Amino acid sequence: MIGAGAAGYFSAITCAEMNAENEVFIIEKTGKTLQKVSISGGGRCNVTNACFEPKALSLNYPRGEKELKSAFSRFQPKDTMQWFEERGVPLKIEPDNRVFPQSNNSQSIINALERAAQRAGVQVLLNSSVVSIVKHQGHFEIKLSSNNSIIAHKIIVASGGSPKASGLDWLKELGHEIISPVPSLFTFNIKDEALRSLSGISMDPVQLKIVGTKIETVGSILITHWGFSGPAVLKSSAFAARILAEKTYCFELEIKWLSGKSEDALRQELMNLKAANPSRQMQTGLPFQLPKRLLNYLLYKSGIEENASWQEVSKEALNRFIVSLLYDRYWAEGKTTFKDEFVTSGGVARPDINFKTMESKKVKGLYFAGEVIDIDGVTGGFNFQAAWTTGFIAGSAAAAI
Ligand SMILES: Cc1cc2nc3c(=O)[nH]c(=O)nc-3n(C[C@H](O)[C@H](O)[C@H](O)COP(=O)(O)OP(=O)(O)OC[C@H]3O[C@@H](n4cnc5c(N)ncnc54)[C@H](O)[C@@H]3O)c2cc1C
Repeated sequence: MIGAGAAGYFSAITCAEMNAENEVFIIEKTGKTLQKVSISGGGRCNVTNACFEPKALSLNYPRGEKELKSAFSRFQPKDTMQWFEERGVPLKIEPDNRVFPQSNNSQSIINALERAAQRAGVQVLLNSSVVSIVKHQGHFEIKLSSNNSIIAHKIIVASGGSPKASGLDWLKELGHEIISPVPSLFTFNIKDEALRSLSGISMDPVQLKIVGTKIETVGSILITHWGFSGPAVLKSSAFAARILAEKTYCFELEIKWLSGKSEDALRQELMNLKAANPSRQMQTGLPFQLPKRLLNYLLYKSGIEENASWQEVSKEALNRFIVSLLYDRYWAEGKTTFKDEFVTSGGVARPDINFKTMESKKVKGLYFAGEVIDIDGVTGGFNFQAAWTTGFIAGSAAAAI
């Protein structure tokens, strides 16, 4: 295995457990194993998601949906949960379906992986960076930056995401297409002083559209002091990762604060209220609930006084208010990394891999697992699940002599 992350460990353990005759070792460039597992999920490790239906599960992957759907029929979140629970890690499912160790500590996951690896006889070589792989007749020569070489009969590459395409040149040299990496899972920066004063407000659900694209997500949004965050934003950033990179993260987004509400129905409701209560303060008795600060901001944007009565609201102002509620547009300039979980979109092109075995179609005996592949998911434990699933399939296939 190349890489001592989630995918490298899982494939190494699977390979060693399936065939005791295999001599399995992990080559890791840094001095530490499972570093991302350690910091994942804010130190709690969101190990998977309790979505047990392969098709529904696969919809959480902007890149890799088709390939993972069949892979999940072989190893899915139920299997992940069973795997860890059988190895002494009780898990819990949170109300939003994210799965964590009951200990709320990623160290439980690390301990289980390290114990299982040790029991299965997996060896780990630290501080050994792979710089190239040479295929010879019947074996590989793995060249390290130290100028040493290691001979292996099969290789699973689980070296994770690379922020630069050049970081994967050693895989390109073997004939693989590399999809240039771009970040995924980030929040949007909005320069709007008035919006800043709403920092801390969250709304659930809203509909979020990236203007000029077909990308639309539904979920909760959080107003921060730099712009917008929250699940709907992170999901949009993942599905639009490539488009937004091309736009250098300058784009327009549209928020429908009243998710699912039609313009006609809203207009009718507001007109009825206006006709029935002309002298009543408009703010009281609106046919929807919004946090007061947000409502006042949208009224201000529409040119309506906070304390205006219905009769003081012109038809044009009411129209502007409807537009603010349903088609509220913001210009985003830049992104901010979401610290809890971020991934790289891009990597080894999926068509170069046989997803039944995770074997390269270009180099026999070479397999891939984890984020090194052009696969990534939204937040919620989906990225680790992709690592466990591809790691399991690669480890099983490589175990066969
Ligand atoms: C802060 C943070 C929090 C996250 N939280 C979650 C979460 O809660 N849930 C979730 O599902 N996902 C989460 N993710 C995403 C998840 O961590 C990754 O998708 C996952 O770790 C990918 O696993 P991997 O084994 O493919 O790669 P990695 O974990 O990146 O491991 C790759 C390993 O390969 C080594 N390596 C690289 N190149 C070489 C080389 N040439 N030679 C030798 N070794 C090499 C690296 O040093 C590294 O140790 C989070 C990510 C971040 C950054």
